[in-house]
Amino acid sequence: MALIARRMSRLGTENAFKLGDDIQRCVDRGMDVIRFNLGAPDFRSAPHLNRVASEALDAGRSGYCDPAGILPFRQAIAAHVTRTRGTEVGPDRVVVTPGAKPPIGYTLQTYVDDGDEAIYPSPGFPIYESWVRFVGAVPVPLHLSDERDFAFTADDLAALITERTKVIILCSPSNPTGGVLSRAGLAGIAELIRERCRPDIRIYSDEIYEQILFDGLVHESIVSHPGMEERTVVASGHSKGFAMTGWRLGWAVLPTAEEAAIFKRININIMSCVPPFLQEAGVAAYEDPASAVEVRRMVGEFEKRRDWIVPALNALPGVHCRTPRGAFYVFPDVSGMCERLGVHRAHATLPAGARSRTSPAGMLQMFLLYRYGVATMDRASFGRIGAEGQDFLRLSIANSMDDIRRGVARIGEAAGDAEGFARFIAEEAAILR
Ligand code: PLP
Repeated sequence: MALIARRMSRLGTENAFKLGDDIQRCVDRGMDVIRFNLGAPDFRSAPHLNRVASEALDAGRSGYCDPAGILPFRQAIAAHVTRTRGTEVGPDRVVVTPGAKPPIGYTLQTYVDDGDEAIYPSPGFPIYESWVRFVGAVPVPLHLSDERDFAFTADDLAALITERTKVIILCSPSNPTGGVLSRAGLAGIAELIRERCRPDIRIYSDEIYEQILFDGLVHESIVSHPGMEERTVVASGHSKGFAMTGWRLGWAVLPTAEEAAIFKRININIMSCVPPFLQEAGVAAYEDPASAVEVRRMVGEFEKRRDWIVPALNALPGVHCRTPRGAFYVFPDVSGMCERLGVHRAHATLPAGARSRTSPAGMLQMFLLYRYGVATMDRASFGRIGAEGQDFLRLSIANSMDDIRRGVARIGEAAGDAEGFARFIAEEAAILR
């Protein structure tokens, strides 16, 4: 009998957190590290929201509460979804969770049996692939390509749907690509699902970046299309749009109250409830007009940074970067840079174990971090299955303009440092995982 249950070998991770140890090692070596790896806005939660939470605490609202979420918060979420998605949602279909991450696992645990298939975007948020594998589903990555602006069509999805398809995960705006699904694109996907899928499949629509859109775009959701409300779990929360990552405020809207009761039961089994004083601030985020002002200010800043960084990256040799339309990431193709630095060659000569644990983009990521103090995320951090041969890095623009400029300048220097890369490989074999 083994100490650790077999299923734990299937649980993945989120490298954005895992990279922390490498960053700390660099900081301990005296380096100044620019953190392009982080998926958290570099803004504070708004003062009017902080006040609501601290007043609720002072008033003694510090005990357990309804495991589904306090009613005023569920009502505010239902009203928000009704207003922004054009579907009539009541609070009995809403469950509050600690962030928008838990509903991913809740969905896969609730709907998927061994051997069912789950389709998810790749590159995509790594927790999708992690949970798909953990629950014993068959992972079916929907590969998004740079040449097609990381978009996909109903035809691409149609090729992956089978009798065993049970869950289809969508994410728009997307982490890591910044791609945004259009209303017309979603209409085509909805039509396909109506025609090809059983009524008991579930779409998981991850809309955590719903507030962060550029170029005047407005958020679009699959749930707004005919026949989708009864099949879709919509998930979002306060982490990104309201700059509240540490608060752990998220939610899911389920197709039925019965399904919401299952999510509530999972909450009860895992963490009882989300702190009630935080949920009160969650209500204010939707209802206080001051929130919209803060969101606009932050999104305006992200858009300015995007407008600066995309051409700056494209000016570097061997880098090609698309223009994201939402979220706060850029996802450049760095294959030319890998080629110039000799990364592909170095990767090919690694011992087999090390070679399969890393990738050329992963080696470049470590070179940039350990030699130039720039933390980024490699392509394989966003879904490993089928990621071979794809040289991309994700850079978060949730950094000051000054840091973004300094970071891009460092990447530019690194791009011309083939000798430095060769030395790095020779000196730091141990960190190339
Ligand atoms: N979904 C996506 C696409 C994300 O990028 C993230 C966070 O990076 C989450 C969900 C999780 O959000 P939260 O921090 O609210 O749990």
